[in-house]
Amino acid sequence: MIYLDYSATTPVSYDVLESYLRATKDFIGNPNSLHSLGVKTKTLMNSAIKQISDLFNILESELTFTSGATESNNMALIGACLANMKTGNHVIVSKLEHPSVYKICEYLESIGFEISYVNNDSEGLIDFDDLREKIKPETIIVSICAVNSEVGVRQPVKMIRQIIKKENPNTLFHSDMTQAIGKIPVNFHDVDLASISAHKIFGPKGIGLLYKNSRVKINPLIYGSGKSNELKPGTPPVPLIVAFAKALRLALVDIDKRENFVKRLNEKIVMDIAKLDGIKINQTKYSIPHILNISLSRIRPETFIHAMEEYEIYLGTNTACSSGDLSTSIMAIYNDRKRAISTIRISLSYITTTDEINRFLNCFNAIYSKLNSLMD
Ligand code: PMP
Repeated sequence: MIYLDYSATTPVSYDVLESYLRATKDFIGNPNSLHSLGVKTKTLMNSAIKQISDLFNILESELTFTSGATESNNMALIGACLANMKTGNHVIVSKLEHPSVYKICEYLESIGFEISYVNNDSEGLIDFDDLREKIKPETIIVSICAVNSEVGVRQPVKMIRQIIKKENPNTLFHSDMTQAIGKIPVNFHDVDLASISAHKIFGPKGIGLLYKNSRVKINPLIYGSGKSNELKPGTPPVPLIVAFAKALRLALVDIDKRENFVKRLNEKIVMDIAKLDGIKINQTKYSIPHILNISLSRIRPETFIHAMEEYEIYLGTNTACSSGDLSTSIMAIYNDRKRAISTIRISLSYITTTDEINRFLNCFNAIYSKLNSLMD
Protein backbone atom coordinates (compact mmCIF):
# COMPACT_ATOMS: atom_id res chain seq x y z
CA MET A 1 0.00 0.00 0.00
CA ILE A 2 1.15 3.55 -0.73
CA TYR A 3 -0.70 6.06 1.39
CA LEU A 4 -0.55 9.62 0.08
CA ASP A 5 -3.48 11.20 1.91
CA TYR A 6 -1.68 12.28 5.10
CA SER A 7 -3.40 15.66 5.14
CA ALA A 8 -6.77 13.92 5.48
CA THR A 9 -5.54 11.82 8.36
CA THR A 10 -2.52 9.83 9.51
CA PRO A 11 -2.17 6.34 10.94
CA VAL A 12 -1.63 6.25 14.70
CA SER A 13 2.03 5.68 15.49
CA TYR A 14 2.94 2.63 17.54
CA ASP A 15 4.38 4.63 20.46
CA VAL A 16 1.25 6.78 20.60
CA LEU A 17 -0.98 3.72 20.61
CA GLU A 18 1.07 2.23 23.42
CA SER A 19 0.61 5.37 25.53
CA TYR A 20 -3.12 5.21 24.84
CA LEU A 21 -3.35 1.55 25.84
CA ARG A 22 -1.33 2.02 29.01
CA ALA A 23 -3.42 4.99 30.12
CA THR A 24 -6.62 3.06 29.36
CA LYS A 25 -5.60 -0.12 31.15
CA ASP A 26 -3.76 1.26 34.16
CA PHE A 27 -5.68 4.46 34.89
CA ILE A 28 -9.34 3.57 35.27
CA GLY A 29 -10.40 6.37 37.62
CA ASN A 30 -12.29 9.49 36.65
CA PRO A 31 -9.90 12.45 37.06
CA ASN A 32 -12.80 14.36 38.62
CA SER A 33 -13.16 11.74 41.43
CA LEU A 34 -11.71 12.45 44.83
CA HIS A 35 -10.45 8.95 45.65
CA SER A 36 -6.97 7.67 44.96
CA LEU A 37 -7.82 6.13 41.58
CA GLY A 38 -9.17 9.48 40.44
CA VAL A 39 -6.15 11.31 41.82
CA LYS A 40 -3.82 8.87 40.03
CA THR A 41 -5.58 9.52 36.69
CA LYS A 42 -5.62 13.25 37.33
CA THR A 43 -1.88 13.23 38.01
CA LEU A 44 -1.28 11.44 34.69
CA MET A 45 -3.54 13.89 32.87
CA ASN A 46 -1.84 16.89 34.45
CA SER A 47 1.58 15.65 33.45
CA ALA A 48 0.38 15.23 29.82
CA ILE A 49 -1.07 18.76 29.91
CA LYS A 50 2.18 20.09 31.33
CA GLN A 51 4.15 18.38 28.56
CA ILE A 52 1.97 19.99 25.90
CA SER A 53 2.12 23.43 27.48
CA ASP A 54 5.92 23.16 27.77
CA LEU A 55 6.17 22.22 24.09
CA PHE A 56 4.38 25.44 23.15
CA ASN A 57 5.67 27.55 26.01
CA ILE A 58 2.15 28.39 27.15
CA LEU A 59 0.18 28.07 30.39
CA GLU A 60 -1.57 24.81 31.18
CA SER A 61 -4.81 26.74 31.68
CA GLU A 62 -4.59 28.01 28.09
CA LEU A 63 -5.36 24.53 26.71
CA THR A 64 -8.81 23.09 26.14
CA PHE A 65 -9.19 19.58 24.76
CA THR A 66 -11.82 19.12 22.10
CA SER A 67 -12.91 16.28 19.83
CA GLY A 68 -10.84 17.73 16.97
CA ALA A 69 -10.19 20.87 15.01
CA THR A 70 -13.82 21.20 13.89
CA GLU A 71 -14.89 21.56 17.51
CA SER A 72 -11.96 23.87 18.28
CA ASN A 73 -12.95 26.14 15.38
CA ASN A 74 -16.56 26.21 16.63
CA MET A 75 -15.47 26.95 20.17
CA ALA A 76 -13.18 29.78 19.08
CA LEU A 77 -15.44 31.56 16.60
CA ILE A 78 -18.87 31.08 18.14
CA GLY A 79 -17.46 31.42 21.66
CA ALA A 80 -15.78 34.74 20.78
CA CYS A 81 -18.92 36.07 19.09
CA LEU A 82 -21.17 35.15 22.01
CA ALA A 83 -18.77 36.77 24.47
CA ASN A 84 -18.56 40.03 22.50
CA MET A 85 -22.10 40.51 21.18
CA LYS A 86 -22.53 43.78 23.05
CA THR A 87 -19.55 45.46 21.41
CA GLY A 88 -19.52 43.95 17.93
CA ASN A 89 -21.19 41.85 15.26
CA HIS A 90 -18.49 41.42 12.64
CA VAL A 91 -16.25 38.47 11.73
CA ILE A 92 -13.53 38.28 9.07
CA VAL A 93 -12.28 35.04 7.55
CA SER A 94 -10.05 34.27 4.59
CA LYS A 95 -11.14 32.58 1.36
CA LEU A 96 -8.75 29.72 2.10
CA GLU A 97 -10.34 28.25 5.20
CA HIS A 98 -11.37 24.69 5.90
CA PRO A 99 -15.09 23.98 5.15
CA SER A 100 -15.78 23.77 8.90
CA VAL A 101 -15.02 27.49 9.23
CA TYR A 102 -17.48 28.38 6.44
CA LYS A 103 -20.20 26.27 8.06
CA ILE A 104 -19.63 28.17 11.32
CA CYS A 105 -19.83 31.45 9.40
CA GLU A 106 -23.16 30.39 7.85
CA TYR A 107 -24.48 29.74 11.34
CA LEU A 108 -23.16 33.02 12.71
CA GLU A 109 -24.73 34.88 9.80
CA SER A 110 -28.07 33.18 10.49
CA ILE A 111 -28.06 34.58 14.04
CA GLY A 112 -27.21 38.11 12.96
CA PHE A 113 -23.43 38.38 12.62
CA GLU A 114 -21.87 39.94 9.56
CA ILE A 115 -19.14 37.95 7.81
CA SER A 116 -16.45 39.47 5.54
CA TYR A 117 -14.12 37.42 3.36
CA VAL A 118 -10.65 38.89 3.04
CA ASN A 119 -9.02 38.69 -0.40
CA ASN A 120 -5.76 36.98 -1.25
CA ASP A 121 -3.35 37.48 -4.12
CA SER A 122 -2.69 35.01 -6.94
CA GLU A 123 -0.13 33.20 -4.77
CA GLY A 124 -2.70 32.74 -2.01
CA LEU A 125 -1.13 35.31 0.31
CA ILE A 126 -3.63 37.35 2.34
CA ASP A 127 -4.14 40.84 0.89
CA PHE A 128 -2.96 42.92 3.85
CA ASP A 129 -4.49 46.17 2.57
CA ASP A 130 -7.85 44.48 2.16
CA LEU A 131 -7.56 43.06 5.68
CA ARG A 132 -6.77 46.53 7.08
CA GLU A 133 -9.75 48.02 5.27
CA LYS A 134 -12.14 45.31 6.42
CA ILE A 135 -11.31 45.60 10.13
CA LYS A 136 -13.76 47.94 11.87
CA PRO A 137 -14.55 48.86 15.48
CA GLU A 138 -17.24 46.10 15.47
CA THR A 139 -14.86 43.36 14.29
CA ILE A 140 -14.88 40.70 17.01
CA ILE A 141 -12.57 38.16 15.46
CA VAL A 142 -10.44 37.42 12.38
CA SER A 143 -9.82 33.78 11.49
CA ILE A 144 -7.06 32.91 9.04
CA CYS A 145 -5.56 29.45 8.75
CA ALA A 146 -1.79 29.08 9.15
CA VAL A 147 -1.68 26.55 6.31
CA ASN A 148 -4.47 26.00 3.82
CA SER A 149 -5.66 22.38 3.59
CA GLU A 150 -6.00 22.15 -0.18
CA VAL A 151 -3.07 24.01 -1.73
CA GLY A 152 -0.93 24.16 1.41
CA VAL A 153 -0.53 27.94 1.28
CA ARG A 154 1.26 29.14 4.38
CA GLN A 155 0.38 32.55 5.83
CA PRO A 156 2.70 34.88 7.79
CA VAL A 157 0.68 34.50 10.98
CA LYS A 158 2.79 36.81 13.14
CA MET A 159 2.55 39.64 10.64
CA ILE A 160 -1.21 39.18 10.26
CA ARG A 161 -1.57 39.50 14.01
CA GLN A 162 0.38 42.77 13.99
CA ILE A 163 -1.87 44.18 11.26
CA ILE A 164 -5.03 43.18 13.12
CA LYS A 165 -3.91 44.55 16.47
CA LYS A 166 -2.77 47.84 14.93
CA GLU A 167 -6.19 48.37 13.32
CA ASN A 168 -8.20 47.26 16.34
CA PRO A 169 -6.49 46.00 19.52
CA ASN A 170 -9.77 44.45 20.67
CA THR A 171 -10.18 42.26 17.61
CA LEU A 172 -9.22 38.66 18.37
CA PHE A 173 -7.07 36.60 16.02
CA HIS A 174 -7.81 32.91 15.60
CA SER A 175 -5.77 30.62 13.38
CA ASP A 176 -6.68 27.11 12.33
CA MET A 177 -3.24 25.49 12.58
CA THR A 178 -4.43 21.95 11.83
CA GLN A 179 -2.42 21.59 8.62
CA ALA A 180 0.60 23.42 10.02
CA ILE A 181 1.25 21.45 13.17
CA GLY A 182 3.96 18.82 12.78
CA LYS A 183 4.86 20.12 9.32
CA ILE A 184 6.21 23.61 9.95
CA PRO A 185 7.08 25.43 13.20
CA VAL A 186 4.06 27.04 14.87
CA ASN A 187 3.98 29.60 17.64
CA PHE A 188 0.80 30.01 19.66
CA HIS A 189 2.09 33.38 20.89
CA ASP A 190 1.41 34.76 17.40
CA VAL A 191 -2.35 34.34 17.91
CA ASP A 192 -5.09 34.69 20.52
CA LEU A 193 -6.72 31.38 19.66
CA ALA A 194 -5.53 28.34 17.69
CA SER A 195 -7.04 25.02 16.64
CA ILE A 196 -5.20 21.75 16.09
CA SER A 197 -6.11 18.08 15.80
CA ALA A 198 -4.24 14.91 16.86
CA HIS A 199 -5.17 12.70 13.93
CA LYS A 200 -3.11 14.81 11.51
CA ILE A 201 0.09 14.08 13.46
CA PHE A 202 -0.06 10.31 13.94
CA GLY A 203 -2.26 10.71 17.01
CA PRO A 204 -5.71 9.22 17.60
CA LYS A 205 -8.91 10.48 16.02
CA GLY A 206 -11.34 12.15 18.39
CA ILE A 207 -9.06 14.63 20.12
CA GLY A 208 -7.85 18.11 19.29
CA LEU A 209 -7.22 21.25 21.22
CA LEU A 210 -8.02 24.89 21.38
CA TYR A 211 -5.29 27.22 22.54
CA LYS A 212 -6.75 30.34 24.15
CA ASN A 213 -4.54 33.09 25.49
CA SER A 214 -5.34 33.62 29.17
CA ARG A 215 -6.32 37.28 28.59
CA VAL A 216 -8.99 36.26 26.06
CA LYS A 217 -12.57 35.64 27.17
CA ILE A 218 -14.90 33.44 25.15
CA ASN A 219 -18.25 31.90 26.08
CA PRO A 220 -18.59 28.14 26.47
CA LEU A 221 -20.72 26.31 23.91
CA ILE A 222 -21.57 23.43 26.21
CA TYR A 223 -22.56 23.38 29.85
CA GLY A 224 -22.12 20.65 32.41
CA SER A 225 -20.25 19.51 35.46
CA GLY A 226 -16.58 18.76 36.00
CA LYS A 227 -14.11 21.21 37.33
CA SER A 228 -11.17 20.77 35.00
CA ASN A 229 -12.14 23.17 32.21
CA GLU A 230 -14.90 25.75 31.97
CA LEU A 231 -15.10 25.53 28.15
CA LYS A 232 -15.25 21.75 28.08
CA PRO A 233 -17.04 20.27 31.08
CA GLY A 234 -17.49 16.53 31.54
CA THR A 235 -15.04 13.69 32.05
CA PRO A 236 -11.78 14.40 30.21
CA PRO A 237 -10.69 11.63 27.80
CA VAL A 238 -7.41 11.00 29.64
CA PRO A 239 -6.03 8.22 27.38
CA LEU A 240 -6.63 10.45 24.34
CA ILE A 241 -4.96 13.39 26.07
CA VAL A 242 -1.94 11.26 27.00
CA ALA A 243 -1.72 9.91 23.45
CA PHE A 244 -2.05 13.43 22.01
CA ALA A 245 0.81 14.64 24.22
CA LYS A 246 2.96 11.79 22.95
CA ALA A 247 2.02 12.48 19.31
CA LEU A 248 2.87 16.16 19.73
CA ARG A 249 6.24 15.40 21.28
CA LEU A 250 7.08 13.13 18.35
CA ALA A 251 5.68 15.55 15.76
CA LEU A 252 7.76 18.53 16.80
CA VAL A 253 11.12 16.79 16.42
CA ASP A 254 13.43 17.69 13.49
CA ILE A 255 10.72 19.72 11.75
CA ASP A 256 13.12 21.52 9.39
CA LYS A 257 15.00 18.38 8.42
CA ARG A 258 11.74 16.54 7.78
CA GLU A 259 10.36 19.45 5.76
CA ASN A 260 13.45 19.44 3.53
CA PHE A 261 13.06 15.73 2.89
CA VAL A 262 9.37 16.15 1.98
CA LYS A 263 10.34 19.07 -0.28
CA ARG A 264 12.62 16.80 -2.29
CA LEU A 265 9.82 14.24 -2.70
CA ASN A 266 7.43 16.97 -3.78
CA GLU A 267 9.91 18.31 -6.35
CA LYS A 268 10.42 14.83 -7.73
CA ILE A 269 6.69 14.39 -8.30
CA VAL A 270 6.25 17.84 -9.83
CA MET A 271 9.19 17.33 -12.18
CA ASP A 272 7.68 14.09 -13.40
CA ILE A 273 4.01 14.96 -13.81
CA ALA A 274 4.07 18.67 -14.68
CA LYS A 275 5.10 17.78 -18.21
CA LEU A 276 2.01 15.61 -18.78
CA ASP A 277 -0.52 17.12 -21.11
CA GLY A 278 -3.70 18.21 -19.31
CA ILE A 279 -2.26 18.43 -15.79
CA LYS A 280 -2.12 21.68 -13.90
CA ILE A 281 -0.01 21.93 -10.75
CA ASN A 282 -1.83 23.99 -8.13
CA GLN A 283 1.15 25.10 -6.12
CA THR A 284 2.25 28.60 -5.25
CA LYS A 285 5.48 29.92 -3.81
CA TYR A 286 3.85 29.82 -0.37
CA SER A 287 2.71 26.17 -0.55
CA ILE A 288 4.26 23.82 1.99
CA PRO A 289 5.74 20.71 0.32
CA HIS A 290 3.52 18.26 2.21
CA ILE A 291 0.48 19.18 0.13
CA LEU A 292 0.60 18.84 -3.63
CA ASN A 293 -2.60 19.72 -5.43
CA ILE A 294 -3.16 19.08 -9.13
CA SER A 295 -6.04 19.49 -11.56
CA LEU A 296 -6.78 17.02 -14.34
CA SER A 297 -8.39 18.56 -17.39
CA ARG A 298 -9.78 15.45 -19.11
CA ILE A 299 -10.23 12.80 -16.41
CA ARG A 300 -12.66 13.01 -13.50
CA PRO A 301 -10.70 13.06 -10.21
CA GLU A 302 -12.87 10.28 -8.70
CA THR A 303 -12.16 8.05 -11.72
CA PHE A 304 -8.45 8.63 -11.36
CA ILE A 305 -8.43 8.10 -7.62
CA HIS A 306 -10.32 4.81 -7.89
CA ALA A 307 -8.03 3.64 -10.70
CA MET A 308 -5.01 4.33 -8.49
CA GLU A 309 -6.74 2.56 -5.61
CA GLU A 310 -6.76 -0.65 -7.68
CA TYR A 311 -3.00 -0.60 -7.15
CA GLU A 312 -3.37 0.25 -3.45
CA ILE A 313 -2.30 3.84 -3.89
CA TYR A 314 -4.45 6.24 -1.90
CA LEU A 315 -4.88 9.90 -2.88
CA GLY A 316 -7.42 12.60 -1.91
CA THR A 317 -9.82 14.85 -3.78
CA ASN A 318 -9.60 18.44 -2.52
CA THR A 319 -10.16 17.91 1.22
CA ALA A 320 -11.59 14.80 2.81
CA CYS A 321 -14.28 16.98 4.36
CA SER A 322 -15.60 18.36 1.09
CA SER A 323 -15.06 15.55 -1.40
CA GLY A 324 -16.69 16.18 -4.73
CA ASP A 325 -17.35 19.87 -4.18
CA LEU A 326 -15.86 22.80 -5.99
CA SER A 327 -12.55 23.63 -4.37
CA THR A 328 -12.98 27.02 -2.72
CA SER A 329 -9.22 27.43 -2.33
CA ILE A 330 -8.51 26.81 -6.02
CA MET A 331 -11.24 29.33 -6.88
CA ALA A 332 -9.75 31.86 -4.46
CA ILE A 333 -6.26 31.49 -5.92
CA TYR A 334 -6.80 30.74 -9.62
CA ASN A 335 -10.42 31.85 -10.15
CA ASP A 336 -10.90 28.98 -12.60
CA ARG A 337 -14.01 26.78 -12.19
CA LYS A 338 -12.75 23.99 -14.42
CA ARG A 339 -9.54 23.79 -12.45
CA ALA A 340 -11.49 23.89 -9.18
CA ILE A 341 -13.76 20.90 -9.89
CA SER A 342 -11.02 18.55 -11.00
CA THR A 343 -8.53 18.56 -8.17
CA ILE A 344 -6.54 15.76 -6.62
CA ARG A 345 -4.55 16.21 -3.44
CA ILE A 346 -1.37 14.21 -3.02
CA SER A 347 -0.29 14.66 0.57
CA LEU A 348 3.09 13.58 1.84
CA SER A 349 4.66 12.96 5.20
CA TYR A 350 8.17 12.63 6.53
CA ILE A 351 7.50 8.87 6.69
CA THR A 352 6.83 8.74 2.93
CA THR A 353 9.78 7.01 1.23
CA THR A 354 11.56 7.73 -2.06
CA ASP A 355 10.74 4.19 -3.12
CA GLU A 356 7.03 4.83 -2.55
CA ILE A 357 7.23 7.95 -4.69
CA ASN A 358 9.00 6.07 -7.49
CA ARG A 359 6.33 3.39 -7.47
CA PHE A 360 3.60 6.01 -7.26
CA LEU A 361 5.01 7.84 -10.28
CA ASN A 362 5.22 4.67 -12.38
CA CYS A 363 1.62 3.87 -11.62
CA PHE A 364 0.49 7.49 -12.06
CA ASN A 365 2.04 7.74 -15.52
CA ALA A 366 0.61 4.41 -16.67
CA ILE A 367 -2.92 5.10 -15.41
CA TYR A 368 -2.90 8.67 -16.61
CA SER A 369 -1.95 7.75 -20.16
CA LYS A 370 -4.43 4.84 -20.20
CA LEU A 371 -7.38 6.94 -18.98
CA ASN A 372 -6.39 9.84 -21.18
CA SER A 373 -6.31 7.65 -24.29
CA LEU A 374 -9.84 6.44 -23.49
CA MET A 375 -10.99 10.07 -23.75
CA ASP A 376 -9.80 10.41 -27.38
N1 PMP B 1 -9.15 22.47 9.76
C1 PMP B 1 -8.30 22.03 8.82
C2 PMP B 1 -7.37 23.01 8.17
C3 PMP B 1 -8.30 20.69 8.44
O1 PMP B 1 -7.47 20.25 7.50
C4 PMP B 1 -9.20 19.80 9.08
C5 PMP B 1 -9.25 18.33 8.73
N2 PMP B 1 -9.49 18.06 7.37
C6 PMP B 1 -10.08 20.31 10.05
C7 PMP B 1 -10.00 21.65 10.37
C8 PMP B 1 -11.05 19.44 10.77
O2 PMP B 1 -10.36 18.67 11.70
P1 PMP B 1 -11.04 17.49 12.52
O3 PMP B 1 -11.21 16.38 11.54
O4 PMP B 1 -10.05 17.16 13.57
O5 PMP B 1 -12.31 17.98 13.07
